Amino acid sequence: MSIRPIYLDCHATTPVDERVINAMLPYLKEHFGNPASINHMYGWEAEAAVKKSREILANSINATPEEIVFTSGATEANNLAIKGVAEAYFQKGQHIITVVTEHNAVIDPCKYLQTLGFEITFLPVQTDGLINLNELEKSLRPDTILVSVMAANNEIGVLQPLAEIGEICRERNVFLHTDAAQAIGKIPLDVQGMKIDMMSLTAHKIYGPKGIGALYVRRRHPRVQLAAQQHGGGHERGMRSGTLATAQIVGFAKATEIALESQESENQHLTLLRERLWKQISQLEGIYLNGHPTQRLTGNLNVSVEGVDGAALLLGLQSVMAVSSGAACSSATTAPSHVLTALGHSEKLAYATVRFGIGRFNTIEEIDRVGEHFVSTVHSLRKQGLKVRS
Ligand SMILES: *Cc1c(COP(=O)(O)O)cnc(C)c1O
Repeated sequence: MSIRPIYLDCHATTPVDERVINAMLPYLKEHFGNPASINHMYGWEAEAAVKKSREILANSINATPEEIVFTSGATEANNLAIKGVAEAYFQKGQHIITVVTEHNAVIDPCKYLQTLGFEITFLPVQTDGLINLNELEKSLRPDTILVSVMAANNEIGVLQPLAEIGEICRERNVFLHTDAAQAIGKIPLDVQGMKIDMMSLTAHKIYGPKGIGALYVRRRHPRVQLAAQQHGGGHERGMRSGTLATAQIVGFAKATEIALESQESENQHLTLLRERLWKQISQLEGIYLNGHPTQRLTGNLNVSVEGVDGAALLLGLQSVMAVSSGAACSSATTAPSHVLTALGHSEKLAYATVRFGIGRFNTIEEIDRVGEHFVSTVHSLRKQGLKVRS
């Protein structure tokens, strides 16, 4: 058997935790019923499992179960939140504020709304990846209906100050949506305390299955009305039709439960690994840490390296580690990442960027092996580069 590279791409997806798989299995096997079947036991069992999962997810963010709308993931949740509010409130206003470093699942629905006549403000970020709250305040207008700011960035791990943003939006009676795909389970999230009106969640970044997520939609103080983006049987109080994926939902709840239980110890573990890796590779000259040094996800390490070609670097690393580059993650295009250029990086430096997404199952031995190979790869590429130039 060939040795597989060490997996360090946990912002892209995570392996499914064994405990999650075990929780899901009965709902793929004997309890296979449709939760909407009200006339027999198969339906009731499935419905009970969905109900319990909904409660777990709601509790995890201090919401109520009726405020959870299951979706296929965070992409769909973002689309439902942004287009759903735009369609429901366009008579009130047609201005939306978001941030240049958002995931494409927020940027692209906003760009789509631009084609329909909505005005979108894309707030810039500072060199540490954080938005400037004064700029947010200045950009709010009487016709602003929505602010969408992500909780944790998927490339550089930066955590935006959600509670402060929530305060500003609530004061001005503007809805706040947050894409929390990278944040759920990893940092405390409280939709009441943080005054969040909509929150997108997904299971597969926290050791749950792919293809399941949720949108939290506030029901009171204030109530958010959404225009459905998918019509059919009227599931999820009409906001999202389609048969509920019982096993996926059970897995999502189990993954969330585990993440919350182990949040503190896991953050300690990830911090230790991350600092160990950074200590080793920061011995290199011309290496830069991207994103705020402390206000960030513990498992994220994003670095740019001077004097190497980005493609050659990734090629040199890939036998030992599975990491992401600074090129746009949709591999159809090879533009440099919009997040890195927003930090002020040149295209060349943006390409020579590596994102380490450290996760629950990584070990110290793996991190040491990764650090060692990274340093030797950069050294040898720089040496080759000198030869080519001389
Ligand atoms: C992964 C991710 C998404 C997309 O989530 P899916 O569940 O894969 O649709 C959206 N936003 C952020 C910040 C992400 O990291």
